[in-house]
Amino acid sequence: MAVYNPKSLKAEEFINDEEIRATLAYAEENKNNVELIDQILEKARPVKNGNGCTCRGLTHREASVLLACEIPEKIQKMYEIAEEIKLAFYGNRIVLFAPLYLSNYCVNGCVYCPYHMKNKHIARKKLTQEEVRAEVIALQDMGHKRLAIEAGEDPVNNPIEYILDCIHTIYSVHHKNGDIRRVNVNIAATTVENYRKLKEAGIGTYILFQETYHKKSYLELHPTGPKHDYDYHTEAMDRAMEGGIDDVGLGVLFGLELYKYEFAGLIMHAEHLEAVHGVGPHTISVPRVKRADDIDPDMFDNGIDDETFIKIAACIRLAVPYTGMIVSTRESEDVRRRMLRVGISQVSGASRTSVGGYTEEERPHDTEQFDVSDQRTLDEVVHWLMQTGHIPSFCTACYREGRTGDRFMSLCKNGQILNCCHPNALMTLAEYLEDYASPETKETGYKMIEEELKRIPKDKVREIAEKNIQDIRSSNRR
Ligand code: SAM
Repeated sequence: MAVYNPKSLKAEEFINDEEIRATLAYAEENKNNVELIDQILEKARPVKNGNGCTCRGLTHREASVLLACEIPEKIQKMYEIAEEIKLAFYGNRIVLFAPLYLSNYCVNGCVYCPYHMKNKHIARKKLTQEEVRAEVIALQDMGHKRLAIEAGEDPVNNPIEYILDCIHTIYSVHHKNGDIRRVNVNIAATTVENYRKLKEAGIGTYILFQETYHKKSYLELHPTGPKHDYDYHTEAMDRAMEGGIDDVGLGVLFGLELYKYEFAGLIMHAEHLEAVHGVGPHTISVPRVKRADDIDPDMFDNGIDDETFIKIAACIRLAVPYTGMIVSTRESEDVRRRMLRVGISQVSGASRTSVGGYTEEERPHDTEQFDVSDQRTLDEVVHWLMQTGHIPSFCTACYREGRTGDRFMSLCKNGQILNCCHPNALMTLAEYLEDYASPETKETGYKMIEEELKRIPKDKVREIAEKNIQDIRSSNRR
């Protein structure tokens, strides 16, 4: 039998079923242990340290106790600390991005995904490079600077060369003031050699959702195709890091398996990356399974309600304080608003989950991967973020300056967010307001910028930011 070892490179040792079961038993036993819960909450709290703050994070066992706890005041405390952590490390900035679907050809048999190979009535489509250009221009015209490219797994129709060509095309499109500055990639698990090629192509984060950490369910949910191989899939992030990719993004598709099992697996995966590579995941995504072409989420009996979903997000925030957290347009405006409070740092906006969807007048449904709940325009999302006290950020400076992996984390830990990320976010927001915003969004945006500039602690930094923003307003960009 496999023995739990976070430093191992073997899936069954770092995502160890026996350890997860022991964790769930421990959490259940202690879910009313107020003394222990208070100790864990205290450990999670950010501690002042010189200019900045540090957080110790939580182990998968500690975090699982919090997730199991059902005492309302303790849950309230979790939310408060989650918000405190978020403000300490990320401030009130929210990074925006959009997914770009390249191809829905897929040879896998994932039972929750309409792209599965046996689905014969979904239109199969793969963008040509000309179509990629057109999609990118449509995204740039909304104001997007950051994309996550998505594709099914098909070595004949979507080989790595196709993905690389698309990345190259995306980075080469400069239309009006638009440019895509960071391309994150969400494609199936692949080889070290292919990860190296992705790194050389200049990708940002490599994202791969585990879907479920529960091996037996995983094998049933992925009955055919290369994705059936649980170990190959689970060990993908180690290969990505071996291929030189610093920033990797984890995720679980909530609803497929029991959420407490998934949560423990997710935190163990983060611990494993930290133990082996010295840096945890750059982001964690929290998708929930949605209705789609021939998929009814009720097929899976592990769906979670909004309250549980928000609690999961807060517990992730407490366990891995330096990791960005992403919520997509799978979720409604209301859920997204609540998720922002407990630790989300990135949201998608104006997403279309169909291949070629951004160049269509109406939202097309024939090649869509799943139903989108939040169907607002990017301008509406930007305006809404500001009304809820968040700075919409289009900043990609860290990535452009090579501040990825542990170098980004040290920026967080040294309290430089307000002197560095905050002014960058305000400058990119000003660019957005000038180039793309509606008159109402522009008015709200400049009011917000004026207030937020006052919060920059270093005079020199504040003066530079003010000057740059004035230049942006007078069309004198550098
Ligand atoms: N094909 C790649 C792979 O196998 O990892 C990734 C791309 S896939 C387009 C992106 C993600 O969409 C999947 O990892 C899965 O978690 C999610 N997804 C699939 N079907 C879904 C559904 N019905 N509702 C919500 N999310 C879904």
